[in-house]
Amino acid sequence: MPADPFRRTKIIATLGPATEGEPMLEALIRAGVDIFRLNMAHASHDWTRGVIRRIRALSTRAGREVAVMMDIKGPEIRTGDLATPLELRAGEVFDFTVKPGTAGQSGEEVRSVDVNYQGLVHDIRVGDEVLVDNGLLRLEVLEKHEARIRCRVVIPGELKSRRHINLPGVKVNLPSFTEKDRADASVGLEEGIDFLALSFVREARDVEMLRDFLTERKSRVRIIAKIEDRSAIANLTSIVEACDGLMIARGDLGIECPFEELPVIQRRAVRACLAQGRPVIVATHMLESMITQPVPTRAEITDVANAVYELADCVMLSGETTVGKYPLECVGMLDTIARRIERETAGDAGEPAVFTGERMKVLKAAVVLAGQLPGSKIMTFTRHGFMAQGLALLRPAHSPIFAFTPSLQVLRQLRLLRAVEPILLELASDPNESIENALAHLRRVGLAAPGDKIVIATDIVAEDRLVDAVQLRTLR
Ligand code: PEP
Repeated sequence: MPADPFRRTKIIATLGPATEGEPMLEALIRAGVDIFRLNMAHASHDWTRGVIRRIRALSTRAGREVAVMMDIKGPEIRTGDLATPLELRAGEVFDFTVKPGTAGQSGEEVRSVDVNYQGLVHDIRVGDEVLVDNGLLRLEVLEKHEARIRCRVVIPGELKSRRHINLPGVKVNLPSFTEKDRADASVGLEEGIDFLALSFVREARDVEMLRDFLTERKSRVRIIAKIEDRSAIANLTSIVEACDGLMIARGDLGIECPFEELPVIQRRAVRACLAQGRPVIVATHMLESMITQPVPTRAEITDVANAVYELADCVMLSGETTVGKYPLECVGMLDTIARRIERETAGDAGEPAVFTGERMKVLKAAVVLAGQLPGSKIMTFTRHGFMAQGLALLRPAHSPIFAFTPSLQVLRQLRLLRAVEPILLELASDPNESIENALAHLRRVGLAAPGDKIVIATDIVAEDRLVDAVQLRTLR
């Protein structure tokens, strides 16, 4: 069977040293990356400004406007600097100190490192686990003191400077939206980003805090809530409700939760998003072995396929495109797997529990009609993206959704949505004129050919009023 010209599942690529340069960025845009992610845990403001401006210029040159997602790091606990890495031995007693500069000053023969969070001693309990460097090192808390916690090394290894700490099951009292996040987000807004991803969202209130920050700045940037720990899972429904999109951040989730829970959480989170009408991203370790090898493992291929079968909107690359040797090949691999699996998934979408209003039912009628007409395309017009989001949520079995919008920012934000192909078009005051212009555009650029069936979900004028309507046209 020939490959479908449309890939429904969207691709997000995180930028880093392997991909920040012009030739690679342009190649990635042309290869089909939909959204570039900037991870602010590792980015300076100068780098951020420079790379966003490059993405915009290269998008224009490539004739394909892609979106930018800034990922702010939220509440994160890290170890401090070490002059040289420490080799921690199994069974060794080791201290984490919370007053900067007190590491190594207990007067005892116990090695230690600083931690950037003063409240650690308060939040943690004896018996809790401390995981360092993505769980590579594991320690158990033995004692709590005024300015230190004393632990025993359970899984030994090398401790380097500024390593990420996870405390599974511990309610950490750090603010969700930190001063650093505020400063990073302000740079992002100045540079015109499209999405802000907030790390370690623990409850809906975290998202609301970021929403207030954006509202104060009159920003239409969309919020992606990253779920990464047990509190997020406990509050999943309200977090999905509060955000504009969800990221299943499997890197930290796989440390914070028992590993066998991860596939269960992923499936539940994708379903919650489909039911509540929010786009969803499956992230991390999708093609991890391709950081160093040109081909993925069979298990990775199946993992990507699984996300597509689950009807996720996006799949995401992290290390594969920040430091990997084969970033372009990774994008090609996601593209090939997604197209193949999408041919298997036709007609699998369940009924969403939201958008039960009349307009949603009209959109449903459009999707059902398109489903009856093999090879048909869906077309809509959208000023704020809602019509396109409603159609995408209904997961049309085989028809692409051509979403015409007059707003460049909305166009870029539509890149998040499964099956949506956004197109820039000034909308005429007469809806019929917009339809004629859009059909002419599809014909001109070869997105549709004479004889194609086009299902149009849009307003029409009837008795001097705008009414929702579904039309079927055959392209002339
Ligand atoms: C993750 O943990 O899976 C993730 C996407 O977050 P980060 O890369 O910011 O650690």
